[in-house]
Amino acid sequence: MLIAGSPVFRKAVTAAVRGRITAHALMSFGALAALAIGQWVTAAVVVLFMRIGDHVERFTAARARRAVGDLTALAPPTARVERDGTEEEVPTGEVRVGETVIVRPGAQIPVDGEVIGGRATVDQAAITGESMPVDVGPGARVFAATLARLGTLRVRVTRVGPDTTFGRVITLVEQAEAHRADVQRVADRFSGYYLPVVVGIAALTFLLSHNLLATVAVLVVACSCSLALATPIAMLASVGAGARRGLLIKGGKYLESLARADVLLIDKTGTVTLGRPQVVDVLALNGVSDLEVVTLAASAERYSEHPLAEAVRAAARERGLPLEEPEQFEALPGLGVRARVHGALIAVGSGRMVPAAASTKEAAALEAQGNTLLYVARDGVPIGAIAAADTLRSEVPAALDAVRALGVGTIELLTGDHERAAAALAGRLGLPYRADLLPEDKIAIVRDYQARGHTVVMVGDGVNDAPALAQADVGIAMGAAGADVAIEAAHVALMRDDWMLVPEVLRIARRTMRVVALNIAFTAVYNLVGLSLAALGVLPPILAAAAQSLPDLGILANSSRLLRQRAGS
Ligand code: ADP
Ligand code: MG
Repeated sequence: MLIAGSPVFRKAVTAAVRGRITAHALMSFGALAALAIGQWVTAAVVVLFMRIGDHVERFTAARARRAVGDLTALAPPTARVERDGTEEEVPTGEVRVGETVIVRPGAQIPVDGEVIGGRATVDQAAITGESMPVDVGPGARVFAATLARLGTLRVRVTRVGPDTTFGRVITLVEQAEAHRADVQRVADRFSGYYLPVVVGIAALTFLLSHNLLATVAVLVVACSCSLALATPIAMLASVGAGARRGLLIKGGKYLESLARADVLLIDKTGTVTLGRPQVVDVLALNGVSDLEVVTLAASAERYSEHPLAEAVRAAARERGLPLEEPEQFEALPGLGVRARVHGALIAVGSGRMVPAAASTKEAAALEAQGNTLLYVARDGVPIGAIAAADTLRSEVPAALDAVRALGVGTIELLTGDHERAAAALAGRLGLPYRADLLPEDKIAIVRDYQARGHTVVMVGDGVNDAPALAQADVGIAMGAAGADVAIEAAHVALMRDDWMLVPEVLRIARRTMRVVALNIAFTAVYNLVGLSLAALGVLPPILAAAAQSLPDLGILANSSRLLRQRAGS
């Protein structure tokens, strides 16, 4: 028994020397106490279970590492690059941003990039968890580690290695693995408090009954730290189950907040709308032509990453207008852009930025239809407005119904867009809204709800709302595949553009917390009954030794139900 138990004893002593009482200490204590009173078999049984526990733990850790290894193996080791007019096969690590890679049918895409030639169907399951392949052609974005079928693609490289969406997912999964170490720390910290309590009960037992056997049984039955594991194991299971469905949950504590959430705040542009607005009308003022308004606006927007900027640039392309190179460029989050084009200061943005222009009747009518108006001014003089329409994501109403059914009482739409445009869209969704908000106003609203004791979930796309996402108890980012800001800022990243994932993650969270509650209730009752029986002398030490390993198994079995959970159930 001493030989078999020595690895565990050694670990317990090493930790104790550093001033830490660990789970190993708890177990060693039980075994040695049994030994001290000549209960050889009991001591041996305790040691047996100690060693089994250690092996199970090592096995789980190895499997987790292997899972990360598998993910990394999904990225292809080599890529075919066009260099000097010929196609070369090089290690993926040597591909540079801006080069062109060729992806043959059946091959994995080695980098993130934009398709510049060819068509193919791409299986993006590695990133989004969605097994339905998508058709891609010129202009489409493709992601590393996804699989091209039925066609050859020419892809201009935009990101390589760890910068790709896939690279980031791997980094995050590795960080989640590091949380696994936290589980052990939690168990250890718990043992620190638990050991004195158990020793106290054992001492009391001895004082009251003078029964050595009962005293040892108390020490042995309390060996397990299953109470400490009840929460983290269930959370790990759900984080894992989510990842396979395109839901990147960055830590178990967000599941706890999601299960409690009673306020859902939603960003408008790019979140409830597709984020691919189109210019539907151009108004010109003060003797300037439509075409000039579009040219100047598109030139000013040249370097903006906002979806509205892309709409304006697309409008210029369609009209065959040349873009000028802006001399200065400044983006004002939630307001618009300012740039110097041919010496003139061009401002494009909301009515808050170019107020004098906001008053025309036509502009108001366009806004009332739900269009976003971008006002354009030159050297402070309004010269026109561009109306852009964005499409509502079709699954939003059903998703919101599902969220309401889960008991989230307050749902509100937040937007930097104009009052009239917001009212039109909010009306279609039957939601209350607040318009004309700057990024800092959105943070203030989140804080205000929190100060009143609410748990706030915020859904956004990471454009102009990243600080509010970070401030919320849980920030959920839509369309995170390919968008760094969104993955970085959010606590939960949806790798697939599907609003139904929002009620889905709420459901997963609730189910997780139910499993956690059951785990805790089960182990608490089990340990209490075990301790009482042991203290009363009813439970002999040998049975106590066998009994203490059961709650761990119960918790593992109960929590593993979460790994198997089905979408929508
Ligand atoms: P939302 O809160 O709906 O997601 P944003 O905060 O991204 O919207 O933007 C708010 C408003 O600011 C837009 O409706 C638009 O009027 C203006 N705006 C922001 N960025 C730009 C830009 N690059 N070009 C023009 N207008 C912009
Ligand atoms: Mg937005």
